[in-house]
Amino acid sequence: MSEPLLKVRGLEAWYGRLQALFGLDFDVPENGVVTLLGANGAGKTTTLRALSGMIQTAGDIVFAGNQIGGTVTEDIVRLGIAHVPEGRGTFTAMTVEENLQLGAMTRRDPGAIAQDIERTYAYFPRLAERRRQQAGTLSGGEQQMLAISRALMLRPRLMLLDEPSFGLAPLIVEELFGILADLKEKEGLSMLLVEQNAAMALEIADEAYLIETGRMIMSGPAQQIGSDENVRRAYLGY
Ligand code: ATP
Repeated sequence: MSEPLLKVRGLEAWYGRLQALFGLDFDVPENGVVTLLGANGAGKTTTLRALSGMIQTAGDIVFAGNQIGGTVTEDIVRLGIAHVPEGRGTFTAMTVEENLQLGAMTRRDPGAIAQDIERTYAYFPRLAERRRQQAGTLSGGEQQMLAISRALMLRPRLMLLDEPSFGLAPLIVEELFGILADLKEKEGLSMLLVEQNAAMALEIADEAYLIETGRMIMSGPAQQIGSDENVRRAYLGY
């Protein structure tokens, strides 16, 4: 078997003196979608922050053959990991297109950047229509799409997505996940997806991990996790 794109072993993380993760082991395969499920406060967001170098960690984080534990965020981004945080974080006073240009800030090839903006619009036609509109005037779903598009401008190999469905109407969530599935298929993008909407996450994911108070308590193929009776009762509501 080939090495996974991301291989995490014994991951620990702290907020100051407070330990939040206790030895997580997980992989994200090349061109795979992996979802982290768990209740509020379980440590899902913390796991993404740890991978992005935003908090203090210990353990092995190997991405595309590079040990990135303890590496600064800027270098992690340069290696090909893009993080779409909770709450979207678009620049509301700037236009859609200015946000996308900012996403390409680390790149220096204007021709390729312009091409990538058009390619992004092909996936998110709603944004193309609104390219000159201020991001702050977009709907919640459009802002989420913009946050993802901005991350795509980094040409990542792995995208970390934190609660992309948060606060969105069911139809918009369907549309958004359809686009994510397309990106996986057509761009070969790998994703690590944190979701409260477990049903949606399990539909798109290949593998799923369940976190409870900073520890992995279950893992397996998404279909298998989705049919586990305890998971169904706790996270899927049936
Ligand atoms: P949610 O869905 O609510 O985001 P989560 O699974 O993502 O839940 P985390 O946000 O990762 O959970 O939180 C894991 C633990 O770390 C919790 O006990 C939380 O209180 C703690 N924590 C999170 N952020 C901080 C912080 N900035 N400072 C101190 N402790 C924090």
